[in-house]
Amino acid sequence: MWPFSRSAKHEKSTASIFFTNTLTGSKETFASFKSGTATLYSCGPTVYSRAHIGNLRPYVMSDLIARTLSSAGYRLRRVINITDVGHLVSDADEGEDKMEKSARESGESASQIADRYTKLFLEDIRLLNLATEDILFPRATEYIKEQIALIEVLESKGLTYRIHDGIYFDTSKFPDYGKLGGMPKELIKEGDHASLADRISIVGKARIKENAEKRNQADFALWKFSPVGSRRQQEWQSPWGRGFPGWHIECSAMSKALLGETIDIHTGGMDHIAIHHNNEIAQSESVTQKPFVRYWMHNAFLTMAEEKVSKSLGNVVYLSDITGRGIHPLALRYLFLQTHYRKPVSFSWESLSAANEALTRLWKHAREVRKYAKGIAQPSETRDQVTALLRDDLGTPQALALLWETVKDESISPKTAWGVILAADNVLGLSLVEPPAAVLPSAIAVADLPEEIQELITERETARAARDFARADSLRSELTARGYSVEDSSSGPVVSRA
Ligand code: AMP
Ligand code: ZN
Repeated sequence: MWPFSRSAKHEKSTASIFFTNTLTGSKETFASFKSGTATLYSCGPTVYSRAHIGNLRPYVMSDLIARTLSSAGYRLRRVINITDVGHLVSDADEGEDKMEKSARESGESASQIADRYTKLFLEDIRLLNLATEDILFPRATEYIKEQIALIEVLESKGLTYRIHDGIYFDTSKFPDYGKLGGMPKELIKEGDHASLADRISIVGKARIKENAEKRNQADFALWKFSPVGSRRQQEWQSPWGRGFPGWHIECSAMSKALLGETIDIHTGGMDHIAIHHNNEIAQSESVTQKPFVRYWMHNAFLTMAEEKVSKSLGNVVYLSDITGRGIHPLALRYLFLQTHYRKPVSFSWESLSAANEALTRLWKHAREVRKYAKGIAQPSETRDQVTALLRDDLGTPQALALLWETVKDESISPKTAWGVILAADNVLGLSLVEPPAAVLPSAIAVADLPEEIQELITERETARAARDFARADSLRSELTARGYSVEDSSSGPVVSRA
């Protein structure tokens, strides 16, 4: 395990919180619906394969939102759903289910695949120091009943219709359809997803195949029928026949079941604005007649050589590629934080390596400041400025710049500087409070180790936690015998080939 310490809480600042709301297109003061508690839903990964580093950016953004809110005293209720059914190869309800396709290609069951990639995702976000204690990770397949119930309500209101492959939502019956991101009605009507994607500056084009049976091209599937004469691995009985839920309905159902009818914040990548999130709004608001989400927040893409990082373009990098090169996973977090979440981040091994060097230097400064300050933090104007920058729509590049100025300025007392570091790291989550030991050059991410080695590591961690050092030593010998060496660092075990 590689748990990273969370920063100590610091004195509360009174600065207001501002977020850019995609719904209104402007920066707004944040106030939760229910005083003192904020609800936050983040569209989660589709677990048909491993999440690449672009897929991880939205969760670092939602972690920054959550840390900003909790440092301002909010209690949080959060959901990141796990999409393990229904997400088709095209976002426009065409093509094969990504989970079924992955199962067919690998010869494993859809649930084995979902388990494996969910575990790897959870490991990745832990390595990126996400605060996960307030998050629920529900799976779409666990909420089939709730999804069917929502579709039944939509049907009873006359908002659905049936065609040969499923039950569809009639978008012409939701007058506000397309309100998120201000989608032009004519593009929606024509189902011109490529132009819609262009409008919100998404790198790469959305693909869509026309479905002549749909009443409007923007209409989307709520329930899809299993193909006639064949069985899917994942299918359920429903009032409309055997099949599976459409991708969009899972988020409406899980968000309502776990967080309520109106939630404070909903996040995702900008590619979700045009279709997925407009569809979630149409479904949820048609059911409840209440606003679904008060603040919509979207991150821009991670790109590589000006192209979106995506599996279909074949330019993916995984977090394990980074740790495999001996680069600390938090270097990726640092790279993300150097750019505002609404602007694209350009990834290259050079930019990552520069981020790694900068973070290593920042850790060194933080260790020294802590030593000279004897761990005592003093409030200051700079500390409040850092907090205000972060509360101003997650101004991470500005906060990092001020943090660097502070640690380099010898006229600032160590206690004042330590106060600034604590306040910044509370939100930045870069482990500045307890910098980790450097990762060994040949370090292997725990998730990439064979399962039996992972089990031995976990067992050894449990023995160490119980102060059973004899057992821990014998497990280390067993690991060595199997060709792995393990070093203990302040951030957990670092494993490499012996
Ligand atoms: P998926 O697993 O495809 O459903 O995507 C998970 C999340 O990653 C969604 O919020 C997407 O919008 C987001 N996403 C996908 N590709 C990128 C990228 N290259 N950069 C940033 N976010 C991305
Ligand atoms: Zn969603």
